[in-house]
Amino acid sequence: MHELGIANSVLEAARAELGRHPGATPVTVALRVGELAALNPEALSFSFRAITAGTEWENVALEIQSTPRQHRCPACRITFRVIDSSFACPRCGAPQTQCVGGDELELAYLELEES
Ligand SMILES: [Zn+2]
Repeated sequence: MHELGIANSVLEAARAELGRHPGATPVTVALRVGELAALNPEALSFSFRAITAGTEWENVALEIQSTPRQHRCPACRITFRVIDSSFACPRCGAPQTQCVGGDELELAYLELEES
């Protein structure tokens, strides 16, 4: 399952981040996932729960923030959100625009509790 590999890399990134804060307890792991990453949030949560069961990450909340697909117009340099696969620039109508966002898959933040 695609999501299991991602859950593993998320946990790895969160562990590395936690390593920079000795003595802290993880509370929330927040992820930023672009809509182009075509990820199933439920499958990802399920995988995350499965690999963290019985570890110190067991009760840590997993928050998934979805980010929209964004394009940039090379003519007027605005960035706009793509809705219904319409890629033309909403300002000047240029049909050729560039994808600049919506495929991210990264750790947004790790919430910790200092003990
Ligand atoms: Zn434009």
